[in-house]
Amino acid sequence: MRVLLVEDDAMIGDSVKLALRQEGFAVDWVQDGEAGLAAATQVGGPGEGACYDLVLLDLGLPRRSGLDVLRTLRARGVSTPVLILTARDAVADRVAGLNAGADDYLVKPFDLQELAARMHALARRAEGRAEPVLSYGAISLNPATREVTQNGEPVHLSAREFSLLSALMARPGKVWSVAQLQERLYSWDDEVGSNTVEVYIHALRKKFGAALIRNIRGVGYVVPRLEEEPGD
Ligand code: CA
Repeated sequence: MRVLLVEDDAMIGDSVKLALRQEGFAVDWVQDGEAGLAAATQVGGPGEGACYDLVLLDLGLPRRSGLDVLRTLRARGVSTPVLILTARDAVADRVAGLNAGADDYLVKPFDLQELAARMHALARRAEGRAEPVLSYGAISLNPATREVTQNGEPVHLSAREFSLLSALMARPGKVWSVAQLQERLYSWDDEVGSNTVEVYIHALRKKFGAALIRNIRGVGYVVPRLEEEPGD
């Protein structure tokens, strides 16, 4: 999951980014409201929605307040889930944030485990799922615990393999370009090799069988809808 963190406090920003990376999130961090707005309105590609799956937004920010960023995003039709991070333990701020289109909030100082759990819940809701575990045929994947099983047997995946499989499994039938998958996996400061996504796809096919991820030549990759026969 690709996440935008908008936070001007260096200590909080550092610790949140580090903790979320360890949880397998790809995190881009900006430190003022203008940069936050610019990044959050970026799109993932032609005809695609927002580049981020989730925005973590501080309210007290230099150059443009978090509330203003949020209102502007929603006014521009950006529907990315937004979780407000606020040091101000004032009910009025949280109410204003929720009314301006935020999906959830946490009051600082917050527990990083709770933050990750709320992020998973928001992602689930954005994907239209109530069930916390992603299932596809015999494969089950739990984004919160990062456990994967096939026919009930645990399957070990690297962090990147896990991120890739969860993006693909969350939207069966959606064809992803390599560039779109890269965006889901890597933040700005990660080094990305030229055929990295292909290497992970190859590893996943070895572990689950080649039918799981179909290559649409010249377009990208898809986990086929289950109604269709996975076939070839
Ligand atoms: Ca702040």
